[in-house]
Amino acid sequence: MSPSWKPTRAVIIAVGSELLTPERVDTNSLWLTAKLNELGIAVAQKTIVGDNRAELAAAIRYAMQQAELVVTTGGLGPTEDDITRETVASVLGLPLREDEKIATMIRSRFKSRGIEMPGNNLRQAHVPRGAVALANQRGTAPGLWIEHEGVVLLLLPGPPREIRPMFNTLVSTRFLEFTSSKRIFRRVLAITGRTESAVDEAAQPVYLRWKSKNLP
Ligand code: AMP
Ligand code: MG
Repeated sequence: MSPSWKPTRAVIIAVGSELLTPERVDTNSLWLTAKLNELGIAVAQKTIVGDNRAELAAAIRYAMQQAELVVTTGGLGPTEDDITRETVASVLGLPLREDEKIATMIRSRFKSRGIEMPGNNLRQAHVPRGAVALANQRGTAPGLWIEHEGVVLLLLPGPPREIRPMFNTLVSTRFLEFTSSKRIFRRVLAITGRTESAVDEAAQPVYLRWKSKNLP
């Protein structure tokens, strides 16, 4: 990506049918939002999509029209319902090829634990043409950084213990080059004894002051 690519807006897509049940909460999106805000990137939209190719493809197409950074989490595992990698490659029209280095890394990870590797684990070594694989210190699924027509698609794993170190590494490496010097901060004012409308009225001058600024 050219150094002029300075993302100010991102869309997060959390992938996983379990996240659409009452049992599981999409905590990754909240964590990612905090980290993106620290980089000066506002989250324009968040979506949760089940493990469904057509719905994920539609969400990716839409997200790419909304922001210059699209972050997905989940669906990079080895099983049949892990469809993020293949769906993104298909939406972008990119062929997948096996990355020998990743395949070797996955094989040796299994070997070091004395477990026989099921063949479908090699799906995790499939990389869309031109994508950069991101090392996973805590699991077998590498993340992927894909640049496409001015948009970066960042594909991250689902397990929180895997996504966090991977994203933190990006903050101190790739994002250093691309993010602007703007940062998003949040201050919470706890007010009591006034109505909501009275507080709103009192805050009007602040709204006006910042309306004209080109905030992300
Ligand atoms: P996956 O990579 O889609 O196979 O997800 C593996 C596991 O990571 C899931 O079973 C969840 O426990 C967890 N996970 C996936 N997505 C999220 C998310 N958005 N927030 C929190 N946990 C998640
Ligand atoms: Mg999943």
